Amino acid sequence: MLKEASFDNALRFASDLIRIPGLPGHEGDVAERVRQEYEALGLRDVRIDEVGNVIGVAPGRGEAPPALLNCHLDVVAEGDHDEWEVPPFSGEVRDGYLHGRGAMDIKGPLALQTYAAASMMGEAPGDVIVAHTVFEERGGLGMKRLLESGSVEPGVVVIGEATHGDVCIGHRGRAEMEVAIAGSAGHASVPDRARNALDLLGDVLAGIRDLASDQESDPVLGRSSLVATMIDVLPESRNVIPDSAVVTIDWRILPGDDDASLIARVEEAIARRVPMAPDGLSYVVRMAVERQRTYTGIVAERNLLTPGFLMDPDHPMVVAAAQAVGRRHDDGPATIRPWQFATDGGWSCGVFGIPTVGFAPGEERYAHTNRERLDVEEARWGFARYPHLIASVQQALA
Ligand SMILES: [Zn+2]
Repeated sequence: MLKEASFDNALRFASDLIRIPGLPGHEGDVAERVRQEYEALGLRDVRIDEVGNVIGVAPGRGEAPPALLNCHLDVVAEGDHDEWEVPPFSGEVRDGYLHGRGAMDIKGPLALQTYAAASMMGEAPGDVIVAHTVFEERGGLGMKRLLESGSVEPGVVVIGEATHGDVCIGHRGRAEMEVAIAGSAGHASVPDRARNALDLLGDVLAGIRDLASDQESDPVLGRSSLVATMIDVLPESRNVIPDSAVVTIDWRILPGDDDASLIARVEEAIARRVPMAPDGLSYVVRMAVERQRTYTGIVAERNLLTPGFLMDPDHPMVVAAAQAVGRRHDDGPATIRPWQFATDGGWSCGVFGIPTVGFAPGEERYAHTNRERLDVEEARWGFARYPHLIASVQQALA
């Protein structure tokens, strides 16, 4: 017999998931538990893909564009357990809140989305694909690979990151970059025999500051911002002239920038300060790279770039979403706004061009904190709104 797709069962499922820790790259146990629930609810075509995403389908009754519901399987580290009022992996419901790491980011919403899809079996205007992905907290390898694979072809994506009941339509992206200065090392007592990489550092930092003061602004998303955050010097010795100095840049970007355009802009800004590197010194601007290994064993060297995205607030799908969701405490359509943080919508919309919105219970201020919690009554309301949201966005795009 299939499990009933009720709110109470969804809440129990969320508690179960909170009790299974899973940092990026270690989502295997969470994924297996999610797969079991898909099966218990009767979702079709249930599978775990190469990188470890868990995918299932609630077939629709018609031919409207498939909707992809997406949360992530990973959570951020919980930190010191003593700092938590309620233990981080208890999944306890206390004082009207579901508590623990992942309660609102994002195991609560993951459970609600999964159950909402199951509650619409054979009833939605088109297929409802549920795909919960890996590595969101480290740039979104799971979502990127899922959409690259072509194994799902959604016409619209609904992201379950906390919106506190609003409809979110975008966010800034983030790029981590490096300026690597190279010289030649030598003993500090004989500077003439070396070329100090630090000699270029002042101009590089000045170029970065110039670029920072010349950032674009978007009326909805605000201003892009960049800042130098770190300097790594090699060799790490106080009596050696270093041959390597690497400056790290954190850049909160607007939609539309890619690796090449970001690198070119940093290069230009530094070149204005140093048109020609002095003899024996050189520098290169590059994206920072991280080696990531999925729990399924796939290894990827990833540029640390999370794209931004922004849907037009007047897009018919966005308007339909806001009307379908409504407001929890009064009449009228939901508030349409951007998120403060980045999501996998940067991939689905920013890179793959698929119309994307976000809707989920939960307050952004609790994300990644040791007070993480989800208001149960807000979650109950959000769960009830989800089928209306899915049907409306599918109809708006049909
Ligand atoms: Zn999240």
